[in-house]
Amino acid sequence: MKVTGDQALVKKINKSIILHTIRTQSPVSRAKVSEMTGLNKATVSNLVAELCGQELVTEAGPGESSGGRKPLMLHFNEMAGSVIGIELRVKQLKAVLCNLGGGILHEQESVLEAHDFPYVLEQMQQMISALIAAAPPSPYGLVGIGVGVPGMVDEQGVVLFAPNLGWEMVDLRSILESAFEVPVTIDNEANAGAQGELNFGAARDVRHLLYISAGSGIGSGIIIGGELYKGARGYAGETGHMTIEAEGKPCSCGSRGCWELYASEKTYDNPGLSLPARTTTGLVRYALEGHEETLHHLNSIGEYLGIGVTNLINSFNPELIVIGGALSEAEPWLGEPLRRVVAERTLPYHKQQLEITFSTLGGRGTMIGAGFSAVMHFLGNIRVTL
Ligand SMILES: [Zn+2]
Repeated sequence: MKVTGDQALVKKINKSIILHTIRTQSPVSRAKVSEMTGLNKATVSNLVAELCGQELVTEAGPGESSGGRKPLMLHFNEMAGSVIGIELRVKQLKAVLCNLGGGILHEQESVLEAHDFPYVLEQMQQMISALIAAAPPSPYGLVGIGVGVPGMVDEQGVVLFAPNLGWEMVDLRSILESAFEVPVTIDNEANAGAQGELNFGAARDVRHLLYISAGSGIGSGIIIGGELYKGARGYAGETGHMTIEAEGKPCSCGSRGCWELYASEKTYDNPGLSLPARTTTGLVRYALEGHEETLHHLNSIGEYLGIGVTNLINSFNPELIVIGGALSEAEPWLGEPLRRVVAERTLPYHKQQLEITFSTLGGRGTMIGAGFSAVMHFLGNIRVTL
């Protein structure tokens, strides 16, 4: 592909590369930025001066010298602004106020009594207003809001279909943008969770990642070559609806035998089971006491997770699988059966150098990832002067 661009575009690209390098390598010297980006020192100095003027980069204390004068180190100014990251779950709404480095400044959470859109929107707006009021003063203030939702989202931020909420064609982005007058990004929750793990969690520096969000359903964030894979229209990753039992139970999607009917919180309502609780948090308490039926059920979920994960490993050959979402709380009971089934069933070459882990961000991965989308949107729009 042939790329052409005018002077302003080239400068914008270079500035963005420099900012990205300082953000991820901070603290870092100008010489190191020049070496890592391949841009000459004069270009780096000019653009760093602009970034300092825009308060996105700060200079501080001398770093280690390799002989001669000690260089001043460049830092990404995480406190230049803040973002709000929101995770909408079927029974819960959670939000964080983060700085531009993903550091959590404030956190809010509420139980959802219903799913109708006016009610959920009202709850969401109250939560956003409370976090805005709690934000510390900063040069840019609130620069964006990111929301992770359990459903399919198009490129315009319209929630096309969220079966577990009963939503269809909800233009969440426009509504929040006009209410709060900042850019809003809407992502599928598994995609947001994958971004959270990739940038702040268990998957830093990983190129080929499958993030499996297992909670009230199952969805996957697929990272190929360091980039989120969204498919032709943005709907990739609906792995909860891959068939694992050919003649299995009917699913709300219209198919049958879908993975999430056997390996998610949906199983808690199965007739014939007499579980002492209907949430993962509740079941974890019983598992800790050695409650037999609970242990047996979590073992079954772990094995079924392993079957679906095997299909995904054989299809995508990832380096790392991260299990996130509400079920990651039950890692002590899911980890062994999951890994056992994967070891028994995965193709031999696919097993090499493959790691399976549970989310290190706990229940916060999706919120932090949604907030990160808002940060990237903001940094992508940094202006250049000519
Ligand atoms: Zn289905």
